Amino acid sequence: MPVDPFVFQARPPQRVVFGKGRVDRVSEEAVHLGIRRAIVLSTPEQADHANAIAGLLGEHCGAVFSHARMHTPVDVTEQAMAIVRTEGIDGTVAIGGGSTTGLGKAIAYRTDLPQIAVPTTYAGSEMTDILGETADGSKKTLRDPKVVPETVIYDVALTLALPAGLSVTSGMNAIAHAVEALYAPDGNPVVSLLAEEGIRSFAAAIPAIPADPANEGARADALYGAWLCGIALASTSMALHHKLCHVLGGSFDLPHAETHTVILPHAVAYNAEAARPAMERIARALGADAAAQGLFDLAAGAGAPTSLRELGMHADALDRAADIAVANPYSNPRPIERDAIRALLDDAWHGRRPATA
Ligand code: NAD
Repeated sequence: MPVDPFVFQARPPQRVVFGKGRVDRVSEEAVHLGIRRAIVLSTPEQADHANAIAGLLGEHCGAVFSHARMHTPVDVTEQAMAIVRTEGIDGTVAIGGGSTTGLGKAIAYRTDLPQIAVPTTYAGSEMTDILGETADGSKKTLRDPKVVPETVIYDVALTLALPAGLSVTSGMNAIAHAVEALYAPDGNPVVSLLAEEGIRSFAAAIPAIPADPANEGARADALYGAWLCGIALASTSMALHHKLCHVLGGSFDLPHAETHTVILPHAVAYNAEAARPAMERIARALGADAAAQGLFDLAAGAGAPTSLRELGMHADALDRAADIAVANPYSNPRPIERDAIRALLDDAWHGRRPATA
């Protein structure tokens, strides 16, 4: 097949350290970045992880702050900033999922301090220049190269305790980044290679993790996939699927990774005819006959939620969700039509397997 015209934008320099037990090198990595007094960040649930990192950093740890929360509330960032200023902090180490990575990015946005991210979910935020912050009940998203973590340590051992349910939905969240990168208007052949390989890694890992959450091979596949899918997210513009998830998360307070899991097969079915080459790559990576059905079966087979109803959404909210989703739509392979979006949401609410073409 001829190569289509494209633009390839190199990404800011970033150091990625991957492997089981690699968090043991956090102190060397801090020195490499010139950090002498780091603040270690986590959610309350991962305070043990944060304290362990503080121990590894030894004299290079200036403070531990275990109050990161979903959607990066600005008041939490301000509490952390007060410690940064009073304790002479000169770098951050964020251990956790997208919520904790977001706090590290918010501090870097305000200070340009160097960051180390130690991701323990598959959300992929550590690879992107995107920061979403919440204040007064509304979330604003910005892009700035300053927020990209300078160093990322992917340590498989830290993911072994990620609950099986969250592992599957977080993996589907990562796949969603790769899927939309494959039909993005600003995609390119290199990103498509990464995206396809990212989906392939998760197609191997997702069925294996619920059966044995401590399966190190499957965990390594998933974390490797998270890295690749994170690059895909960072490199391209997202479309209908992400728009719908932002609407459902922002206006209806549905949980992040679960919402991605439920919506993805239906957003892909919506775009199937308009993005055939991407669909072929997705199906090939999944080892399935068709992309949308393959994604549905991957999630359902691993015991993930498949319906918006299970996530607590009321059926009478679907009309309003469709209205919000069609206002200011993202660019998308298939034009956004209100009735078809309403039908998509109905399928997702009931948890129907997408129909084969
Ligand atoms: P999360 O960070 O909110 O984590 C969910 C819960 O799981 C937390 O309590 C966390 O402490 C816990 N947890 C994480 N890893 C664990 C582990 N290995 N073992 C045990 N518990 C663990 O969830 P998430 O899905 O990673 O992140 C969602 C947030 O990230 C959302 O706010 C989303 O908007 C944001 N996000 C941002 C970007 C970006 O590029 N800016 C990309 C993806 C997601």
